[in-house]
Amino acid sequence: MSRVAGILLAAGGSTRFGRSKQLLDWGGKPLVAHVADVALAAGLDPVVVVLGCEAEAVRAALADRPVRTAMNWRWEEGMSTSVRAGLAVLPLDVEAAVFLQCDQPLVGPDLVRRLVARWEETGAPIAHPVCEGRRATPVLFARSLFPELARVTGDQGGRALIGRHPTATVEVDDPDLLADVDTPEEYERLIELQDAESRVPAQTLLPRLRYLIVDMDGVLWRGDRPAPGLQDFFAFLRERDVRFVLATNNASKRPDQYAEKLARFGVEVPMDCILTSAQATAAYLAEREPEGTPVHVIGGEGLRAALTEQGFVLTEKGARYVVVGWDPDLTWRKLARATLLIRKGAGFIGTNPDRTFPSEEGLVPGNGAQLAALEAATDVPPVVIGKPEPWLYREAMRRMGATVEATGVVGDRLDTDILGGVRLGLATILVLSGITTEEDLAGSPFRPDLVCADIGELVRIWSTI
Ligand SMILES: [Mg+2]
Repeated sequence: MSRVAGILLAAGGSTRFGRSKQLLDWGGKPLVAHVADVALAAGLDPVVVVLGCEAEAVRAALADRPVRTAMNWRWEEGMSTSVRAGLAVLPLDVEAAVFLQCDQPLVGPDLVRRLVARWEETGAPIAHPVCEGRRATPVLFARSLFPELARVTGDQGGRALIGRHPTATVEVDDPDLLADVDTPEEYERLIELQDAESRVPAQTLLPRLRYLIVDMDGVLWRGDRPAPGLQDFFAFLRERDVRFVLATNNASKRPDQYAEKLARFGVEVPMDCILTSAQATAAYLAEREPEGTPVHVIGGEGLRAALTEQGFVLTEKGARYVVVGWDPDLTWRKLARATLLIRKGAGFIGTNPDRTFPSEEGLVPGNGAQLAALEAATDVPPVVIGKPEPWLYREAMRRMGATVEATGVVGDRLDTDILGGVRLGLATILVLSGITTEEDLAGSPFRPDLVCADIGELVRIWSTI
């Protein structure tokens, strides 16, 4: 996948408001933080916030979000100086950048993703939304245009380039989605609009779902207790002919261990309906490399089994890939061996990004912590297969022959299950029977399409439709 950056233009002063628009309240957080969250939820990487007017206050408003900042000392000379400041700090492997305005609060992750997808499809070096025949922002520029963009002067920004190059467009039906906060009156109107905009109601969402990707821990059970309504949930899916894959970021167990657990709770599911991140990792590699490719593994039985089933040869020396899953027997020696292989050029793959997981004594290191240790030792970031990265969900969809429009995800974690769905444009259903609380939800930069107490409630709502 292409690496696309986000450049958030947050340097300007706003005379009409008497204070920076960047700091206006939007749903309990400053506008600049809201737009940064949209960029992050859309998968832009890195997200660069260009600071100028009231730089310190704007920087503080971003709190501890994983964004970079670029200072534009010349912000009063106009937009072009901010564009240049943002471009200057982009890593060299960024292939395109989406320029986001700080004052378009209803631009969501979905529109940003559609711009990126249009650029990938068409190869046009510019992509922007069009509404009622008029050109609008945010605009994506490909790297090939960065030098020309950096030469623009005055208050023009990237507008100067449009018309000179092939352009891809994304149609937006509702002009309010692109509206900008220009006056205090417009600000009030957009806030009301946002409040009134309910989430996609169940009546329009659920009937179109033919495929479900369902997380297990926290959704189907909690510890050793089945979720209320577990058997009814599967009976309902069969009755409505909804195909499903049960997908987990956990790479340490084999699918048959999950099937056994479900059988204990009185639910029989075929083995190919269970997908672990270990299997998705093996499938990812099998699409790219021939059988017999030597692979070095840190991780448990589940991961080893998945890789050998795909015909890979597990080895200590001469590996083409280092594949890392959670390993309770991790030692310095194992880390050293993996580090040496990666430094010699072996590909670096992680099954899942979970940095911690709960134990009886509290949070303990998960696979993400192991990956961080290896990244620190090698300066190589891993390709991560599990949620919220797309590979696990893509493998689940491939197994079902599913389409984006007809697929939903059900999960209990916002930062993995739901974010992964949001990034792929799938319908997202959050259950509150696992890790996420109402408070977490209120503070989240992205919203699931539907929230249910548990799968029992989901079935109750769905069966009335
Ligand atoms: Mg879960």
